[in-house]
Amino acid sequence: MRQPLVAGNWKMNGSQSSIAELMDGLKAGLSGVSGVDVAVCPSAVYLDRVGSMLNGSSINLGAQTVSEYESGAYTGENSVAMLKELDCRYVIVGHSERRSLFGETDAQVVAKYQAVRDAGLTPILCVGETLEEREQGRAQEVIASQVGAVLDALGADALNEAVVAYEPVWAIGTGKTATPDQAQEVHAQIRAQVAQSDAVIAEQLLILYGGSVNAGNAETLFSMADIDGGLVGGASLKVEDFVTICRAAT
Ligand code: PEP
Repeated sequence: MRQPLVAGNWKMNGSQSSIAELMDGLKAGLSGVSGVDVAVCPSAVYLDRVGSMLNGSSINLGAQTVSEYESGAYTGENSVAMLKELDCRYVIVGHSERRSLFGETDAQVVAKYQAVRDAGLTPILCVGETLEEREQGRAQEVIASQVGAVLDALGADALNEAVVAYEPVWAIGTGKTATPDQAQEVHAQIRAQVAQSDAVIAEQLLILYGGSVNAGNAETLFSMADIDGGLVGGASLKVEDFVTICRAAT
């Protein structure tokens, strides 16, 4: 059995006071909830602060991205060693906003993914098609190639105990959600692709859905056979909604 994961991607949001309020609410709302792993991914600036607030709670810390380089003259970047020192357990890799707004290529995504694995942290590899690609009937091909970039470069072992997040780009922050059937179809496709290399790793692989998950649609999405939780943006900034979404995964 795969234990579901719900991860909140706070993106570039929050302030010292709003984060304190959010964390107080989440710790209270999620205390005693079992059967789901929960993570919050604040801006790198707040990782240290949020990490201290998590002390004594079962909520995990995640980062939104990481440098592919170990250390050195990379102004503005954060290394995986730095994230590890702050007790991050997860690192989101290849989020569509990183790919589209900051030009991250598959090669960079693979390098970041490997850096995260090498440090013993868990990558959350984001994949997903744009609306144009879906309308052209290319969703399957695009997702297979994004997953394939990691599989081909690093082998199936690299997906052992890792997390993939299917996030259709057209559903992120738009209020449009993939239907449970649409999402399930893609999740099953991803699992089948990994199974071609290693059936056991594929069976254990957590595949999250992301894209306008909210308190109202989470339960139906998470009830699908290959949907193992969610990567949640907007709704992860609202205590009640995020708690409801986490509970929906149990
Ligand atoms: C995301 O950014 O990963 C995401 C899924 O955002 P939202 O839930 O706001 O669509």
